[in-house]
Amino acid sequence: MNDKYEAVIGLEVHAQLKTKSKAFSPDGNAYGELPNTLIHPVSLGHPGTLPVLNEKSPEYGVKLGLACSSNITRFNTFSRKNYFYADLPKGYQITQFDTPICTGGFVEITTEEGAKKKINLTRIHMEEDSGKSIHDQDPFHTLIDLNRAGVPLLEIVTEPDLRTGREAYLYLMEVRKLVRYLDICDGNMEEGSLRCDANISVRLKGAKEFGQKVEVKNMNSMRNVQRAIEHEIERQIAAVEAGEEIFHETRTFNAAEGTTTAMRSKEDANDYRYFPEPDLLPLVIEDEYINGIREQLPALPGELFEKYTKKLGLSNYDAGILTENKEIADYFEGVIAHTRDYKSAANWVMVNVKSYLNELAIEIDRFPLKPAQIAEIIALLNDGKINSSSAKKLFAAWVESPAKNAVEIAEELDIIQSAGKDEIETMVKAVFDNHPDEVARFKAGEKKLQGFFMGQVMKVAKGKADPKKLNQLIQKYLS
Ligand code: ADP
Ligand code: MG
Repeated sequence: MNDKYEAVIGLEVHAQLKTKSKAFSPDGNAYGELPNTLIHPVSLGHPGTLPVLNEKSPEYGVKLGLACSSNITRFNTFSRKNYFYADLPKGYQITQFDTPICTGGFVEITTEEGAKKKINLTRIHMEEDSGKSIHDQDPFHTLIDLNRAGVPLLEIVTEPDLRTGREAYLYLMEVRKLVRYLDICDGNMEEGSLRCDANISVRLKGAKEFGQKVEVKNMNSMRNVQRAIEHEIERQIAAVEAGEEIFHETRTFNAAEGTTTAMRSKEDANDYRYFPEPDLLPLVIEDEYINGIREQLPALPGELFEKYTKKLGLSNYDAGILTENKEIADYFEGVIAHTRDYKSAANWVMVNVKSYLNELAIEIDRFPLKPAQIAEIIALLNDGKINSSSAKKLFAAWVESPAKNAVEIAEELDIIQSAGKDEIETMVKAVFDNHPDEVARFKAGEKKLQGFFMGQVMKVAKGKADPKKLNQLIQKYLS
């Protein structure tokens, strides 16, 4: 990038909410059903039908707002945003215009350099999705699937705080993590349940004014959002350098070529003829309601990250992996409820559990062992009942028959270092008594005899003594 310039980026993210029914009607909200099977008359915009608000929309809006430290709007109204489009049968979209359910707040990202950066939010508002036009299945016609018409959305708009494609990528990762932790959206960009439009402008470094922004749409992965932004920045800089004007337009991203092309000139708000939706009453949100939601909020990834690094002493890397998704974090929380050896707990979850999941390509909800069982393996190890290579054997056998108990399996595998501390002490003493010469030589400085004593005791213990403990004992008695 030409370093005379700096890019300014603001994102508009649409999150499809995980609700059973649509935003204003009772038809189902589901992805991948047969086209045009989830179509209640309200979604089809039939005359005489009336919308009824799905109570989950504001609930999820408040959840997200609280998680982002936004202000929650108490007096909410809905508006009609008018435009004609074949996949919008009513001819208008119900949205929130001047009273978005949340204002302000932020999402924090950790930049490549490791610095924390707050990306401020302008607003989060409730609205409904349109249907889907399908252009690539029939050579002469555009097909329409109205299953998506009326699906509830939250639109999350940032301030123009982002500066690079990478920052936009990191922001989206955080937003996806957040909506998944909150269980309000499945965050799947490929299926379109999380969509992102990027507003991009460039200006000379140090300039106070923003440049003319261009909106880029149709990126179906986080990686493509980054690519589209990086390409668009280059394109705008080249245009400015060539003395060309940047137009206020909407461009579409072509993933195969990695380029953006002009789609249409951008409408202004007054082109949409926003007006208050007369069919919906204002929605008043009370403190009690907000507090109720606040109490039910799960621990959020940022909080867990703090806890793992500051309180449990784990590395940033470990904490990052453990908080990547809520299910893994929940599992880890389960393990540390049963052990205080946090570092071992982290290792077992990140290494053994995760590689098992990867191998079988399953999610943690199908992992056969309970968190307490992992803690039990750690306890057996720490008590010296098994050694680390036996622990792996125990793990491998236990996932095959999780209903058995640990000791049962360990005995089957014959891996218990059964000799307890007292027993080992007796064995050590017996070995010393039987080898007075070697003891004398050791005391005279022949330190390599340590190995000889180890071997002798191990022979008596049939290999089931914890080598570490045994070593300590021998040292203790001989010094
Ligand atoms: P519009 O009315 O065109 O949709 P908004 O003011 O609602 O514009 O802003 C939409 C998004 O564009 C926001 O995320 C905002 O931060 C971002 N944005 C606004 N101005 C600029 C700019 N000059 N360059 C880049 N992004 C911008
Ligand atoms: Mg906008």
